[in-house]
Amino acid sequence: MLLVYRYRVKSLTGLLQQQARTVNFVWNYCNDRQKDALRFSRPWLTGFDLNKLTAGSSKELNLHSGVINAVCEQFARSRVQHRRPYLRYRGRKSLGWVPMKGRDLHRKGNAFRFAGNTFRVFYSRPLPDGKIRDGSCFAQDRRGNWFLNIVIEVAEPPARPLSHGVGIDLGLKDLAVLSNQERIHAPGFYRKAEAALAVAQRAHKWRRIKAIHMRVARRRLDFLNKHSAELVRAFDHIAVGNINASGLAQTSLAKSVLDAGWSTFRKMLMYKAIRHGVRYVEVDERFTTQTCSTCGVLPDSRPKGIAGLGIREWTCSDCGAVHDRDVNAAMNILRRGRATLEAGISILKGGENVNGPSY
Ligand SMILES: [Zn+2]
Repeated sequence: MLLVYRYRVKSLTGLLQQQARTVNFVWNYCNDRQKDALRFSRPWLTGFDLNKLTAGSSKELNLHSGVINAVCEQFARSRVQHRRPYLRYRGRKSLGWVPMKGRDLHRKGNAFRFAGNTFRVFYSRPLPDGKIRDGSCFAQDRRGNWFLNIVIEVAEPPARPLSHGVGIDLGLKDLAVLSNQERIHAPGFYRKAEAALAVAQRAHKWRRIKAIHMRVARRRLDFLNKHSAELVRAFDHIAVGNINASGLAQTSLAKSVLDAGWSTFRKMLMYKAIRHGVRYVEVDERFTTQTCSTCGVLPDSRPKGIAGLGIREWTCSDCGAVHDRDVNAAMNILRRGRATLEAGISILKGGENVNGPSY
């Protein structure tokens, strides 16, 4: 499986700045050639074509040839991914980015060698053994700090037996309600920062606004990282409802939905699960709130529709079990997840290549 390790760079950032400008130049060259191809109705350029066009420019540009290749290939990939005939030019406002080929980056103690230079980093966590892969890059964040993102291939551990599982119902008031009745309260970092943000916005303090946004993002990631790690340590299989964040983000709940970070949480759970041999599955969560988790039917007394949203607790009219709305949903999710896993149709997605800064 591929993992991304991210370290803050503490030396040679000036050099990176300079190289990032050259990277932009190469990127814009690719864009120009693509536009030419469009104008003269020639075949569209692949990464391979662009590599050929830029071959031999390394010395003149004073940029490692691996970087030039990585830029060309990423350009072609992005164009296909975004389904665009051409892309936006990179300029002064673009965040700095210097991609590389995995083979060109080498470890040297707690630092890294790349293209004849040693980059010292804040070695916040040890890099596991494994092969460094393409997709690794230097990238800048919005505050101008440089980070080294290393894509590394590590061996997947064997899956643990399915003994102890958990179902997770994602929500707004509580980020997650577990099938064992535990609740993870949603801290709402953005809501808490709104007052400070408003003050900064009225005063037009752009740097302060940026800093607040970044702090909110960091705190949210930290919170989600901690809780997803805890869950992966405690359970052998995890089932999560496939609640759709982007759909709800267009409603009046938008701010709360985006603040909750469901999709990030699910992504973290998935990555951590694979890393630790935990089985992870996303299940269809339709009717999980309405089905009785004790007897498995849709009783007449179930919470229904909009009116049912306010109901926190209900009694099953068929078997008489008393349910907490969210815990009941989590238990149904666990049951469905387990059924999926036992049927052997586990949706173990993973090893996605992540480019640029990630969490
Ligand atoms: Zn029942």
